[in-house]
Parts: sequence; structure tokens; C-alpha cells
Amino acid sequence: MVETMKDSDRGRRSVLLSRREVLTAGAGLVAAPLLVSAATEASAAPAVVPGGGGPISSLAYGAAGATSPLGPLSIERRAVGPHDVLLGVLYCGICHSDIHIARSEWRQGHYPCVPGHEIIGRVTKTGKDVKSFKEGDIVGVGCMVDSCGTCENCLADREQNCLNGTTFTYDSTDRSHGGYTFGGYSDKMVVSERFVIRIPPGADLAATAPLLCAGITTFSPMQHWKVSAGQRVGVVGLGGLGHMAVKLAVARRADVTVFTTSPSKVNDAIKLGAREAVLSSDVAEMKKLVNRFDLLIATVPRAFPMQPFMDVLKLDGTLVNVGALDQLQGLNGMAMGFGRKSLAGSMIGGIAETQEVIDYCTARNIKADIELIRVEEINRAYARVVNKDVRYRFVIDMASLKTTRGPMG
Ligand code: NAP
Ligand code: ZN
Repeated sequence: MVETMKDSDRGRRSVLLSRREVLTAGAGLVAAPLLVSAATEASAAPAVVPGGGGPISSLAYGAAGATSPLGPLSIERRAVGPHDVLLGVLYCGICHSDIHIARSEWRQGHYPCVPGHEIIGRVTKTGKDVKSFKEGDIVGVGCMVDSCGTCENCLADREQNCLNGTTFTYDSTDRSHGGYTFGGYSDKMVVSERFVIRIPPGADLAATAPLLCAGITTFSPMQHWKVSAGQRVGVVGLGGLGHMAVKLAVARRADVTVFTTSPSKVNDAIKLGAREAVLSSDVAEMKKLVNRFDLLIATVPRAFPMQPFMDVLKLDGTLVNVGALDQLQGLNGMAMGFGRKSLAGSMIGGIAETQEVIDYCTARNIKADIELIRVEEINRAYARVVNKDVRYRFVIDMASLKTTRGPMG
């Protein structure tokens, strides 16, 4: 029996389906009775979440709550509007932001939560007014799926800074129906064509997915601060974003140093093209680097002592924090003033710039170092990311959603 849901419940509660209805809703979900539902851990059946606005049913993998493991569920996608593209998701990267949001580490999230914003898919249908894409095209979707399109930031191709609120790919209010958005850990998505990225022919699709967040987030500050040949660039934290930052800075012929907390990553940093890698806990090594760097990109997911990194910047240098979103503390105003040093933040990049990084990387064969996994390995992958054990991006093969038997271990 289907539980009924009041409008006021939309997006907050899930509706349980009978086993027969689940099988009907999830074409190809042959193992449905065996699945562990993420939305209702006590239930044996996947849940349907009407928050997506219907009527396109989609299989997904998501979290029922901040402490729940991710598991299979069914969701609804909005109908394909005149400017929308329907895509079949092929690959989706796992970003550390997925973990922050799924676990409500930044703010209280909506559940079920379907993360994923490094999405590669194939267009299966287009709305009647879509001009830029056609059925069969390989496309990408990154961290945003909508914005007002009229504010000064949107008009300047900075939809990520929309003054009326960017609609992020998941756990964000959907402008079209008022529910909240579901991300790319799913088999289908409906996205406005303005937020769809062209993937050039010949791209390695799974390894290109991480460019849609990790790539653009590190490319954008390099564009803004005009990283150029011979400049000294430091990358703090060698994970998904960090390893892309190294590759992108090396592509500009910058002189790259990695600051890591993991001795086992020192050799990897050199293989990625860095000149050196320094253990940031080694005070003597850090002292040797004082007043050397033009730009640092910090990708550490939590607040960390920043002053030792401000100290390695040279006059007018900038530390761009793209990681920690919590309270930043421990900076020495005197030292920053004396060296006219800046602390900056940066968030992803606009749609035009995202297209630019995809084209730039495809032309130069720059891609992420990935571990391709099945959906049921997501929870293990999350644990490895949190333990700084990602080398260097997990990417989910979304075809595995059709045959999954539920989460592992
Ligand atoms: P990740 O793959 O987990 O990499 C983060 C790296 O930071 C780790 O591999 C580790 O590198 C280092 N690290 C982790 N915990 C640490 C700690 N407690 N102290 C010191 N170093 C630590 O994460 P990611 O996907 O690259 O994302 C990094 C952060 O950026 C996340 O917070 C994510 O939410 C955020 N993000 C921001 C944007 C944006 O637009 N601003 C976009 C995407 C992601 P070592 O082992 O080398 O120390
Ligand atoms: Zn991300």
C-alpha cells in the first residue's frame, strides 16, 4: 500500500511502495526485494521520493539520514520542459562535498539525499526548444543546475555566485517545483540546457567526470589569479581537488609544491608533476619555504592552522581556500600585513568556465586519476575519502545501479 503524502511533507518524507509497485517503478531493478532501502533502513523495499516533482521515475543511491549508509531508492524527476535535457547518467565522481552534505556537516540537509555533482551522461531526450544538444550527445553536469539568469553575477557568467541563490545539483531548492534537487548517483537526470556541458569526442568519460567539480574548482582560481609559467604554486592537501590542482598548475608550467599530511603521498606528488612534496607537520621544512610562493590552493576539508601556510607566501601572495568552510582561525594580522598577504575563498566556477576547463583538459589529455567503483561500494569509498585514502577520485560506474543487490559491508 502506498502511504499518502501531504504537500507540506514534500521533500521531507518518503513514501513506501509495495514490492510489486517497486518492481514496476524501477524497470530493471530485478533485485529489488533484496535491496536494503536507504530511505527506511527498517524496510526491505526502496522508497520513492516525490520531492523531485515527477513524473519520470529514476533509480538512485542515497542517504536516509545524516548517519545512515547510502543505499538504493527510487526518485522522481520533473517532466522534460521545453528547455530541458533528459540524460542517462553513465558516470558520477565522488566529491568530499557529497560526504559533507550527506552527513549534514555544513548544515541540516534534506533526506533522502542523493549526492553527486561530477556527472557524465548521454542525452536521451530534449525539450522542444533545446538548441545546443540532441539525442545521443555525451554531456556533463557539474555542481549547479539553475540560477536566476538575470542578476549581475549570472550575466557575468558567474552563476555560482547568483545573487538570488544558485540551485546546486543536489540538496538545493529546485526553482521549477519547490522540492529539493537530487544529484547524479542516479540513472537519469533532467537539467536545463543552460547548465549542461558539452563533452568533446574522444574524452575518457569516467576520468573526465571529476573535472566537473574538482577540475573547475582548482582551474577557476588559477584563471583569476593568472597562474603562469615559473610561478611558485603550492597545493595543500593531496586528494581529489589537490591532485587536479597539481595537474592544472603543471600544465601552466608553474613550479608546484605539494603540502601533505600523508608521507605515502610524497612520491605520488612527484609523479603528478610537482617539483617537491613537503610534510606540513615538518616545521624545519616549512621554515625553509618561508616567503616563496605566489599562490597556494588549500583543499583541506576542515579548518586547519593556516598561519604556517601564510608564512610561505611571498609579498602579495594569496592563499585561496577552497576546502574548509568552517570558522577559519589562528591567522596573524601582523604577519599578513607585513607581507601584504591575502586570504581568499573561491567556489567552483561558472558554466562558461566549466566548459572551458573541459575543453582545455580534453585538448591536453588532462584527466583525473580514478578508481572506478560499483554503486554498492559507495559507503566504503566514503570511508576511504574521509581517511585521506583516495587515490585520487572515486568514480561510480552508474550501469551498476541496474544490477546492484544493495550496499556492501
Ligand atoms: P579529498 O579528496 O578528501 O581531499 C582532501 C585532502 O585534504 C585529503 O586527501 C588530505 O590530503 C587532506 N586532509 C584531509 N583531512 C585533513 C585534515 N583533517 N587535516 C589536514 N589535511 C587533511 O577532498 P576533495 O574532494 O578534494 O575536497 C576537498 C574539500 O574541498 C572538501 O571540503 C570539499 O567539500 C571542498 N570543495 C570545495 C569546492 C569549492 O567550490 N570551494 C568544490 C569542491 C569541493 P593529504 O593526505 O595530502 O594531507
Ligand atoms: Zn564537488
